[in-house]
Amino acid sequence: MTDPVYRRVVIKLSGEYLAGQQGFGIDQPTMDRVADDLIAARELGTEIAVVIGGGNIFRGVEVSSRGVSRPTGDTMGMLATMMNCLALEATIERKGTPAKALSAFVMPEVSELFTRAAAHKYLAEGRILLLGGGTGNPFFTTDTTAVLRAAEIGAEVVLKATNVDGVYSADPKKDPSATRFDRLTHSQAIEGGYKVMDATAFALARETSLPIIVFSIAEPGSIGAILCGAGHGTIVAG
Ligand code: UDP
Repeated sequence: MTDPVYRRVVIKLSGEYLAGQQGFGIDQPTMDRVADDLIAARELGTEIAVVIGGGNIFRGVEVSSRGVSRPTGDTMGMLATMMNCLALEATIERKGTPAKALSAFVMPEVSELFTRAAAHKYLAEGRILLLGGGTGNPFFTTDTTAVLRAAEIGAEVVLKATNVDGVYSADPKKDPSATRFDRLTHSQAIEGGYKVMDATAFALARETSLPIIVFSIAEPGSIGAILCGAGHGTIVAG
């Protein structure tokens, strides 16, 4: 493989992906595969921070109509992202690569608090950073968190790892006529209302001039390929 194109990236990993075929919770073989891909990508020399979702465990919006308020449900969702973070940190470290989970919440017995200084320090040490707890605020998503953290720590790009190989005009699993975009501007992504990422995330990326690459994580080695400019994904950039 060639040299990486990027010095520092934020990778957004959906919680849903970590459930594997079981649909809920953490599928350890899937977690192991993702960890192997992240380790191989780190070995290329790029500094990597991962923002993890929590959809495999809990999504606030899904309970907010059932007697739990949306802010409480979202807080539960953010705690779910922290569980994924701890599991991925343990999986990466078991394989001999240093990692570090940082949380958006103060929870000293669980993990260190995310600050820019801590993130810079651990990235410089060569650790794979795992950023849990979302933004720490309800009504946001981990997609928005990924863009926010990328802007905060000076990452050059957000890599949105998902189940499909880019942004489509409609859900390609439901609509066979859906077409795939190679490239979109942030404004086109917002106006198109494409479901792959929420509008707040695209708007913050536009505001901070951050490119986003949406790509499929299903193929082993796909993160490394994207880092080397050889992968297959949709580029969303201004
Ligand atoms: N969440 C939140 N604020 C944030 C990030 C996440 O309230 O800044 C909550 C929200 O309830 C969300 C859940 O955490 O549904 C899990 O995150 P997300 O849905 O983004 O996970 P993914 O779909 O990527 O697995």
